[in-house]
Amino acid sequence: MLTIAIQNKGRLNEDTISLLADAGITASASHRKLISDAKGFPLHVLYLRDDDIPQAVAMGVADIGIVGLNEVLEKEQDVDILMKLGFGACRLSLAVPNAVDYPGLNWFEGKRVATSYPVILRNYFSENGIQAFVHEIAGSVEVAPAVGMADAIFDIVSSGGTLIQNGLREEDTVIHSEAVLIGNPHIDAEKKADIDKLMFRFRSILESKGMKYVLMNLPKEKVPEAVAILPGMKSPTLLPLADEAWVSLHVVLHEDTLWEKIEQLKNIGAEDILVLALENVIR
Ligand code: ATP
Ligand code: MG
Repeated sequence: MLTIAIQNKGRLNEDTISLLADAGITASASHRKLISDAKGFPLHVLYLRDDDIPQAVAMGVADIGIVGLNEVLEKEQDVDILMKLGFGACRLSLAVPNAVDYPGLNWFEGKRVATSYPVILRNYFSENGIQAFVHEIAGSVEVAPAVGMADAIFDIVSSGGTLIQNGLREEDTVIHSEAVLIGNPHIDAEKKADIDKLMFRFRSILESKGMKYVLMNLPKEKVPEAVAILPGMKSPTLLPLADEAWVSLHVVLHEDTLWEKIEQLKNIGAEDILVLALENVIR
């Protein structure tokens, strides 16, 4: 049976549990347990600190794991990145005190930079030919410049609010991160088949994000115009109505263009437009 390692508590825990739930898999949210069996899929769930997930997967203690790409890159363990999961978005950036007049990356030459991601930062500096002192600290990295422990920081940024509160300015984004599914590279064929099943479910959930199911009544003669408004679709679905001059038109639209398309369809005579949430798109 497949074992998945997920974060026991913290920022990724809730979204991970709800991704599994959307995929029909009930995993207990309880972080007091180390391991439990999921319902809805043959799966052991191992609850770990996010720092330990790449190693657990590389060692085969877990076959797969859900963790931030930032942790995967920092830990440099032998794992495959199987897919991005669309939550836990953040970036790892270099930030300097507001008073600094920043000319570019060369500013970091000879500077002390505090971070919880020393591997990623050292790699970045060495790729760019910068010699700087990388100071690893476990937490509260953003206060290091104010207390004189460092000249700058390299840390996780999402909204940027924490940086502003600490008088820092983001200058250089090194990586964009989000939660990813990782896998042990030496998995057997039976487990591989289960992983493929899981990934199929995850993909259909991700694809349905931002999609709406739209239905409306349309004068039959307007169908060619409606089809022209909805390019890229194989073909909208048409159902007959009791009134033969009208049809019911069903189509899946992305949020980005939803209102624009609806206005156009209204202009050619669409009525009684319903917009419904879409749970899964299975291709
Ligand atoms: P653990 O106790 O499991 O070690 P942690 O304190 O290291 O937890 P969290 O703060 O729970 O980690 O963050 C987990 C992951 O969430 C991060 O590694 C990152 O991928 C992602 N993330 C998204 N937004 C943020 C953010 N604003 N701050 C920190 N992490 C974020
Ligand atoms: Mg951690």
